[in-house]
Amino acid sequence: MLIAPPEVRLPTRDAVERAVRELDRRLGPSKVDVSEARREAHARDDSAAAGRLPDAVVLAEGRDDVRVALEVCEKHAVPVTPRAAGTGRTGGAVPVAGGVVLATQGMASIVDIDRHDLVAVVQPGVVTGALHAAVEAEGLFYPPDPNSLSSCMIGGNVAENAGGPRAFKYGVTRDYVLGLEACLMGGRVLRTGRRTIKGVTGYDVTSLLVGSEGTLGVFTEIALRLVHAPTEIATVLALYSDVAAAAAAVTRVIARGLVPRCLELMDAWSLEAIRRQGVSIDLRASAMLLVEVDARSAGGGGSASLDATLEALGETLSEGGHAIDVVAAQDEAQRARLWEARRMLSMATRKLAKYKLSEDVVVPRSRLVALLDEAARVCEREGVRHLTYGHAGDGNMHVNFLWDDDGERPAVDRAIEGLMRATVELGGTLSGEHGIGVSKAAYLPLEQGPELIGLQQDLKRVFDPSGLLNPGKIFPTGHRAC
Ligand SMILES: Cc1cc2nc3c(=O)[nH]c(=O)nc-3n(C[C@H](O)[C@H](O)[C@H](O)COP(=O)(O)OP(=O)(O)OC[C@H]3O[C@@H](n4cnc5c(N)ncnc54)[C@H](O)[C@@H]3O)c2cc1C
Repeated sequence: MLIAPPEVRLPTRDAVERAVRELDRRLGPSKVDVSEARREAHARDDSAAAGRLPDAVVLAEGRDDVRVALEVCEKHAVPVTPRAAGTGRTGGAVPVAGGVVLATQGMASIVDIDRHDLVAVVQPGVVTGALHAAVEAEGLFYPPDPNSLSSCMIGGNVAENAGGPRAFKYGVTRDYVLGLEACLMGGRVLRTGRRTIKGVTGYDVTSLLVGSEGTLGVFTEIALRLVHAPTEIATVLALYSDVAAAAAAVTRVIARGLVPRCLELMDAWSLEAIRRQGVSIDLRASAMLLVEVDARSAGGGGSASLDATLEALGETLSEGGHAIDVVAAQDEAQRARLWEARRMLSMATRKLAKYKLSEDVVVPRSRLVALLDEAARVCEREGVRHLTYGHAGDGNMHVNFLWDDDGERPAVDRAIEGLMRATVELGGTLSGEHGIGVSKAAYLPLEQGPELIGLQQDLKRVFDPSGLLNPGKIFPTGHRAC
């Protein structure tokens, strides 16, 4: 069931025709696709946000294509929606005003991997998993690992400030973006940031652009910080009879000062979704923690510190006697199977109901148990089915609302709003990694005051005075869920 597009200004037919003619002439017809099939394929992302069919898709192959597209579209007052892989969860790449979708998947070069300065320079269409493989082949490491990494792209990751399971130890995309080349609406080219470790020159425009959801500029080149790859990794699975016991174990791990690189929690229905994929999990378990630790030993030999961490982790997860089982993966194949199950969870949960909406709220880690209680309370109040899993170590949980009948939708909307309000009351925030996009724009005022929203809209006007770059995103408009 789709969420209706927000109320935005649409381009006139004349304007679109003039823009497409000029794009065709300046970029060449092979880069300007107006076929129904291409437009359909670029009208949606992985969210429930409904867009309008774009009038054309520009298939950019380099910075100059992006620059020309933004110049021509501004001249003819045609909106532009930047797009990478389209795995976004909040409608960021959905063209809610029609116009042009600016597709960057053809800009997929890894320009440089510098082993000495620990920097990679990439184009925005590089698939995240491909970057991982390329830097790991050099003994280096790019930690951000959204679970969509086999298809999502670095441009989309930077625009959403993507996170992933490893964020608990290593942080999110913003922590690795050193500098950007971005084209602004109208065709100006901006270079921000640095390739050095330190640097405090001027305002931190790079950080402003990271997480801007394609509303301020279109990235054409990205400089990323790398680190040396860990030499040892161990994965531990802990099973509990209820989710509160699992959440309490997360709190204990943090309180003890342990820093696993991943600390993922799955509740009873999430386990059921995994079981239905053919993965066998002890039937007594109603909650699971997937915990991963890593270390880098300078000499390349075994690391005593990893063994000590694993021991402390085992003790902490088992403490209180609530764990059904705590086991370490025995080999690489078993480790890979556990992560495969976690990474396919989002797809697997889709099979549990006809409709699913997933929220990615965050609370201070000490309030994790309270968040799980609140999610259960609002869902019970509204009679809505839900399941919860996510990056518990960061307090970032994906609460999924499931329903089968169209008539249940108003109750789902009330449950989502209840969750948003509870999150803010617990000192949390509406999104940890998926952004606001279209899907959450209506809820932004629950968290941010009018002054802050107004200031951000002023900033948007500085970058994009005509308001043509990715309109209808982040800020509330006449949007209404249907
Ligand atoms: C199965 C699954 C698992 C997921 N797991 C995670 C997870 O663990 N962590 C996480 O953070 N997210 C996750 N996501 C969400 C999604 O993958 C991320 O938001 C990802 O960063 C989007 O990348 P993309 O290439 O698909 O971008 P798109 O969806 O194409 O675009 C996302 C946003 O980026 C903008 N954009 C795209 N390219 C550019 C550019 N060159 N310049 C400026 N703006 C641009 C778009 O306008 C849009 O606003 C998951 C999604 C799925 C389907």
